Amino acid sequence: MQRRDLLAGTVAAPAALAAQAAQSTYERRTRGLPRLTIKNVESITTAGGRGYTWVIVKVTTSEPGLYGIGSASNYHQAFTVAASIEKHMAPFWIGKDVDRIDDIWYATNYRNYRRGDTILNNALSGLDMALWDIKGKRAGMPVFDLLGGKVRDAVPCYGHADGATPDALTDAVKGFMDRGYRHVRAQLGGYGGGGILPPGQGKRMRSGYTGPAFDEEQYVNAIPKLFEHLRVKLGNDVRLLHDVHEHLTPAMAVELAKRMEPYRLFFIEDILPPELIHWFKNIKQVSSTPMAMGEIFTNPQEWVTCISERLIDFARCRVSTVGGITQARKIAILCEAFGVRTAWQEGGDNDPVNFTAACHVDLASSAFGIQEDNRWPDQVHEMFPGTPKIPDGYAYVNEAPGLGIDINVEMARKYPMQDPTGREDGFTVRSIDGSLVRP
Ligand code: MG
Repeated sequence: MQRRDLLAGTVAAPAALAAQAAQSTYERRTRGLPRLTIKNVESITTAGGRGYTWVIVKVTTSEPGLYGIGSASNYHQAFTVAASIEKHMAPFWIGKDVDRIDDIWYATNYRNYRRGDTILNNALSGLDMALWDIKGKRAGMPVFDLLGGKVRDAVPCYGHADGATPDALTDAVKGFMDRGYRHVRAQLGGYGGGGILPPGQGKRMRSGYTGPAFDEEQYVNAIPKLFEHLRVKLGNDVRLLHDVHEHLTPAMAVELAKRMEPYRLFFIEDILPPELIHWFKNIKQVSSTPMAMGEIFTNPQEWVTCISERLIDFARCRVSTVGGITQARKIAILCEAFGVRTAWQEGGDNDPVNFTAACHVDLASSAFGIQEDNRWPDQVHEMFPGTPKIPDGYAYVNEAPGLGIDINVEMARKYPMQDPTGREDGFTVRSIDGSLVRP
């Protein structure tokens, strides 16, 4: 070999190798699969056959047949979320690399400029779950494996027991215990139950408000007596929970937390509204009753403070409200560092895709505390094949690659969402003088 050829070889070889290495990084990572981009983003709205307001995001990719689904449901503004996805977000997301989930999350937020937008959070949650679903399908692994793998075999859930009287509630709690549940939330006739004056009753103002009225003194007297009744009848084996639904003024919240101490609750939920979370410091000074909060949080400034200052014992955000699996996972990791546990919000208006996403995070998180359960009629299981079953108080996800849940789009479309005009307002509560009580 000539000296010139030798030199050319030694100079060219590293550059060629570098180019080859750079070119093959993606292919090596994806085992030779081509680069995958978002081809289309669709929002599928459905009433689910039961008057729900569900928004499901379906993301198709540049690989024919490969798609993912996510939950963007929002009971209060479902039509707005659907329009946001189709009119504003989809054009921005189409063409992006499906693997870059966190990058897309930040890019979308920065494009929106203003943070903590509840509509955007819903839209992003739907996209985020769908991208994890795609990543799992591509890897041939369930999402919980991509998140680090199982740290528990199934997901312990708590059920919702309700009764109009203490004895009826006792029977309802016992019904859950007989079905295998170890954790049961107990409400005396809905939120605020025990503290609601029926329409027209109590000392009302002349020509004033006559509807049902929440009286916090009555409530704070009634609830400890209720839980004494439950403990006498049911013993200490069952873990009891209670949801205050933010109805109390701060001083009464402190008082209730103190009075509930003897009944050893697993937690009290939402004893304060998000705008008054610093009152948790006062509660923590006087009561060992564990506190859970987060159902209506939308912004990290709310949960970061609560967790890092150890103001709460359980973070219970809704996965489809905070930004999806990626954000829930980050909250769980923050919780783990500060000894706080998770209890992702469910029940009521949530859809099966959100519940499934929460269960995947639960299965792979050491910060897990409990999962709120949810139950749907058979029709919903048919519409969403793979919806987790909760046979004995434990949720089991379908372990197929991805999220393990799908949507029958044709069936979902047979049940269009209803016009919300005139829908019953379950969130406006008033006191005896007609003033609003916080939800
Ligand atoms: Mg609640």
